[in-house]
Amino acid sequence: MNLSKKILSWYDNNKRTLPWRISKNSKKNQYYRILSEFMLQQTQVKTVIPYFNNFVKKIPNLKALSKSSETKILKLWEGLGYYSRAKNLHKTSKILIKKYKGQIPDDFIKLKELPGIGDYTANILLALIYNQPRIALDGNVKRVLSRIFNIDPAKALNLFKTKRNSDLAEALMEFGALICKPQEPICEECKIKNVCSYYTQGIKIKSKSNIKFHLKSYDIFCYLKKNTRQIALTKNNNLGFLKKFNLPKVKETSKKIKNWKFLCNYKNSISNKKLNINLYYKFSSKIPSKYNWYYLNENSEFIPSFTKKIFKQVSNLY
Ligand code: SF4
Repeated sequence: MNLSKKILSWYDNNKRTLPWRISKNSKKNQYYRILSEFMLQQTQVKTVIPYFNNFVKKIPNLKALSKSSETKILKLWEGLGYYSRAKNLHKTSKILIKKYKGQIPDDFIKLKELPGIGDYTANILLALIYNQPRIALDGNVKRVLSRIFNIDPAKALNLFKTKRNSDLAEALMEFGALICKPQEPICEECKIKNVCSYYTQGIKIKSKSNIKFHLKSYDIFCYLKKNTRQIALTKNNNLGFLKKFNLPKVKETSKKIKNWKFLCNYKNSISNKKLNINLYYKFSSKIPSKYNWYYLNENSEFIPSFTKKIFKQVSNLY
């Protein structure tokens, strides 16, 4: 059984019932999908569910949304945060009604012209609504792919082949939320553990420990500035082997970890050390005094390649 089939078979048996997961043939499907995707930006599923249910009760379709007042929409959005999402969704609904006869376009470029729709939302809508072979790379999916393949998640997308593209896009997100969780993946129950680099590497590491193969784990924490694509660095040499700029790091046991979002796990080698890096991030405009902001496209020779790799990973968030 290939990897897509295994993940889809897990999904068929384990997917959660969510109010926006309705029949693809339903007239409501496009509206439910675009509304839920806007609501889910930066927000957890369990938070979104009651807002979504209430919203569709009061504003049941795209046309009604386009005709609603902004005040009414913002009232329904109250408490969900990031209100620009609601305003953009409202503007988008008007354009969809006027220019596209109330249909969501099946074209990536046209979708991205709509307010509030970036690469991620365009990809997920095309996969979910039009079954296009696209996988939207959110934090969950990036983590799952980088754990399984131990390569850049964008390159891993070609390794999936299926006709059920829509289900696969959701299955990967669901798999990341329920099984391949950020901090404690349930590897023993995982249907694909035998082909997962993260799992099989762990076994190899254990079995080679008697011949001094040593993989050290580090949790690295990046403060990021949302609008300016900047990352906070310090000259403190926390990892003990980098002489110049570095990133904040705390131990995994720290309570602090709860306030950070997991981005990905990857392996790195520096001289004779093999490192298992767990990368976490937080968008913040405030940073501890010993740090300074640097642009992610900074190409200074003083920034070690190790740190530049981290720049590359966090760039995926923008
Ligand atoms: S074996 Fe573990 S790390 Fe690998 S995909 Fe499954 S849950 Fe994730």
